[in-house]
Amino acid sequence: SPAPVSNFLRTIIDNDLAQGRYADKRWAGKPGPASVQALGNSDPARIRTRFPPEPNGYLHIGHAKSICLNFGLANDYQGACHLRFDDTNPEKEEDEYVNAIIEMVEWLGFDWRYGNENNRYFASDYFDYMYQFAQALVQAGLAYVDEQSPDEMRASRGTLTEKGTNSPWRDRPVEESLRLLEEMRQGKHADGSMALRAKIDMGSPNINMRDPVMYRIRHVPHHRTGDHWCIYPMYSWAHPVEDALEGITHSFCTLEFEDQRPFYDWILNHLADLGQLQRPLPRQYEFARLNLSYVVTSKRKLLQLVREDYVQGWDDPRLPTLAGLRRRGYTPESIRLFCERLGVSKAHQSIDYSILEQALRDALDPIAARSVAVLDPVKLVLTNYPEGQVETCHAPRNPHAPDAGQREFPLSRELWIERDDFREDPPKKYFRLFPGNTVRLKYGYIIRCTGCIKDQDGNVTEVHAEYLPDTKSGTPGADSVKVKGNVTWISVAHAIPAEIRLYDRLFTDPHPDSGDKNFLDAINPDSCQAVHGWLEPGTPLSADNPLQFERLGYFVVDSKESVPGKPVINRTATLKDSWAQ
Ligand code: ATP
Ligand code: MG
Ligand code: MG
Repeated sequence: SPAPVSNFLRTIIDNDLAQGRYADKRWAGKPGPASVQALGNSDPARIRTRFPPEPNGYLHIGHAKSICLNFGLANDYQGACHLRFDDTNPEKEEDEYVNAIIEMVEWLGFDWRYGNENNRYFASDYFDYMYQFAQALVQAGLAYVDEQSPDEMRASRGTLTEKGTNSPWRDRPVEESLRLLEEMRQGKHADGSMALRAKIDMGSPNINMRDPVMYRIRHVPHHRTGDHWCIYPMYSWAHPVEDALEGITHSFCTLEFEDQRPFYDWILNHLADLGQLQRPLPRQYEFARLNLSYVVTSKRKLLQLVREDYVQGWDDPRLPTLAGLRRRGYTPESIRLFCERLGVSKAHQSIDYSILEQALRDALDPIAARSVAVLDPVKLVLTNYPEGQVETCHAPRNPHAPDAGQREFPLSRELWIERDDFREDPPKKYFRLFPGNTVRLKYGYIIRCTGCIKDQDGNVTEVHAEYLPDTKSGTPGADSVKVKGNVTWISVAHAIPAEIRLYDRLFTDPHPDSGDKNFLDAINPDSCQAVHGWLEPGTPLSADNPLQFERLGYFVVDSKESVPGKPVINRTATLKDSWAQ
């Protein structure tokens, strides 16, 4: 594969490796879970990254960017990338999400196993360490138990322009804080009655450094630790600790966390100074998150769409979740290609949805099996073709892959064609069927349209044409008559009936949740249209098989609702960009 394009993160890694920054990394004797302590010493200069999802929802296309970046860099530098569940927030986390995340990371083609390491971790496995570290910080006068209410803490935090004010509990004796912290852990205090805070600087221009809360009390069972804990660490200090315990070298996160970096470093440096952690410590670097037009990627909003039945589940083909994109027909390769094209930068970017679709087309064009579908059928009768006669036509399975060979399908007197391929009164530049015009039945004969039959309401029920016997594709007479139009068709007697779901964007607004908009106001009521159409006999009907229906676009068998004999097909994307304004 081609050499990776350089970017600012690669430059950082290259410099770190050149300076031997991680060369003295030693695992033995370090604090950390047994699995991490067992990590090899043999490879001390490798980089280690992590993808740290919170198991409070399904992964979406934004997460794919982070996955491709973290696993991609680790792979390129022969390092390791850990999959770590950041499960420090018991209210919203569930095993269902853990399993769905594992499935999607594997589906994207990435592996957290490295040599004989199985680098799949849970932040909740580190709760004992975190508690020990918190005690050490209190002991050193670097943290205290605050008995202000959450509202009082918020009020005394100050604002961007106003400094915060010290808590009346800030200078309480170390022993008192230690005792209260222990009581908090033992469940002796109510939610919100007190919290452990880092003692930093209430006058800091960075609000995140104004004595951030470290532990809060939550009498809520946790999906893995059950009722063992009723205090839970805040993300802002749990995260650097998790990184350090796992020996992460480069902790890549999205730009919103830039202001948290001073606290990240504060926590790790103090814990190292106190002998609780060993250097070299991980470092945090930020990149711009992916914002994709016409979708929402906040898990809270996705959850609302699912819970309130705006969509049919986390894997609804209209959602930008990876489960939804997979069901829609996106392949791992197409998503990885998209992420590669995004690159990484520190500038906020809003990416047009058409970029995602173009990556899909580029990934599928070389591999998708070609076939024909008729979505809005009308019958075409070849009036001079003998009744009962059937002959075989040939077409490439994929024109880019001659090795894939030819497909065969029957031609007969009655064919399904698209209703739109016939006009009684054609507009200008219409080259398909109208009385008197000749077109090619793709891979078949040239035909001359002779007219149509209509019902009482004037709807066309049958189109009539005569075929020109010596003009079959692939025969010497094929080019004897020049035509401007090509029409796809399926033999009526052989066609496979199918339900085909045509998706449109789920939102009518390119930025449905920007500013103070309510994203629900922008829901597109016509985001899914199901039609009953016909498929070419022999179409490979399996959900693992991307299809290109000629002239129409990319399609896939629905992995959930399709059954043998009653296929349900999702349109993944049209052949050409229909999203551009
Ligand atoms: P949400 O705001 O939807 O809850 P999150 O960022 O809180 O998303 P996490 O599960 O914490 O979700 O995310 C795991 C990792 O994926 C984090 O490192 C986060 O930075 C990254 N990530 C999440 N969304 C995006 C995005 N849109 N673009 C790039 N990276 C993302
Ligand atoms: Mg998060
Ligand atoms: Mg979140």
